[in-house]
Amino acid sequence: MRPLTIRIVGGSLAGLFAANLLSRDGHDVKVYERSTSGFAGRGAGLVPQREVFHILREIGVEHLARFGVVSRDRLYLDRSGKVTQRAHMPQTQISWDLLYESVASRLGHGQYVLGMPVSAVRQTATGATLAFEDGTTETADLVIGADGIGSVVRRALNTSSTSEYAGYVAWRGLIPEADMPEVSSLLSENFAFFVVPGIHILGYLVPGPEGELEPGKRRYNWVWYRFVEPRDYPQAFTGKSGTTYRYSLPRGELSPERLEQFGLDAKTLLPLPFAAAVQAERTPSIQGIFDYEAERMVGQSVALIGDAAFVVRPHTAMGVSKAAGDVMSLRDHLRQEDKLTDALRKFESARLDAGRAIAELGRQLGASAL
Ligand SMILES: Cc1cc2nc3c(=O)[nH]c(=O)nc-3n(C[C@H](O)[C@H](O)[C@H](O)COP(=O)(O)OP(=O)(O)OC[C@H]3O[C@@H](n4cnc5c(N)ncnc54)[C@H](O)[C@@H]3O)c2cc1C
Repeated sequence: MRPLTIRIVGGSLAGLFAANLLSRDGHDVKVYERSTSGFAGRGAGLVPQREVFHILREIGVEHLARFGVVSRDRLYLDRSGKVTQRAHMPQTQISWDLLYESVASRLGHGQYVLGMPVSAVRQTATGATLAFEDGTTETADLVIGADGIGSVVRRALNTSSTSEYAGYVAWRGLIPEADMPEVSSLLSENFAFFVVPGIHILGYLVPGPEGELEPGKRRYNWVWYRFVEPRDYPQAFTGKSGTTYRYSLPRGELSPERLEQFGLDAKTLLPLPFAAAVQAERTPSIQGIFDYEAERMVGQSVALIGDAAFVVRPHTAMGVSKAAGDVMSLRDHLRQEDKLTDALRKFESARLDAGRAIAELGRQLGASAL
């Protein structure tokens, strides 16, 4: 394929993976991200799968795989805090912020444009046009929608854009290991769960903010899934600033009264090691759990990748690896084909079924999780 002008909407992991791989192939690539400050210091922990290690190697940041904390065993606790099941299952956990910062830092000057929200994308006879919220426009041979669950790029493809609330949310915490209460030390070196009908919490260690792996300098990541009735959803996602968020309540937005109630719930419902770890987090965030499946991932000059195409439930631990798989597949088909439309068609037929399968797995895991 000749070098293309490629514009990417959305500068989280999918967009940044794509920008890195496609510029390396000689395309003229820019990423437009609506956030004005980027996401350094955001996110929590993730369990990388094969595709993530593969793309890190291709981007030239394979050393990141070494910045992972290895958990020894999978533990299941009962309500009294006793271990009821233990299985030796070593597994590596990395931190989202370290991955984001390393991948963003590999882009060239001017390639990652922050504070540039895109309001619409339109396909034309010769490519696609981006319209920005500031009223300016730009044309490109190919526009990639990496703009996540609320994607505006989807609209250019006439694919549905409604995501479906799954009826529960994930409260998330990330605390410095040094702040872990003594009573929670059982959780530290293991991937631990407490699961009973209606309650599901898990936790594991991830590296420190600069990739620290020394005991005492790492961070503990926990995720507590909880039901929220659809009618209560807007209230649950309204922050102390008065803003109602659509998909997630960011850190720092929980009111002191709700934080206190949350701590009491932890004490009443969870085994002591988890309750103490939850109470040690003073600024938890809340993520709504949604399902979304695009019927189409491509048009003549537009492609969807990552969460813009399929939103999968976090139980799969595959959101980031699915994004990496999409990007490597798109890059491969652009390399192999002479015509853009052929490359896009083949990319879609390779990735549509993969997205559907992971989305279905997420629903199944979700159904048995709570
Ligand atoms: C701040 C943050 C923290 C996260 N932390 C974790 C974590 O700890 N663990 C985990 O497993 N997953 C985490 N995720 C989710 C994970 O990154 C995704 O599931 C996966 O990487 C695929 O995401 P994506 O890049 O397709 O979409 P997203 O990560 O949702 O990114 C979409 C991007 O598009 C931008 N955007 C949206 N609309 C527009 C527009 N109109 N114009 C311009 N830009 C737009 C958004 O600001 C966002 O940066 C996090 C995501 C974010 C944004």
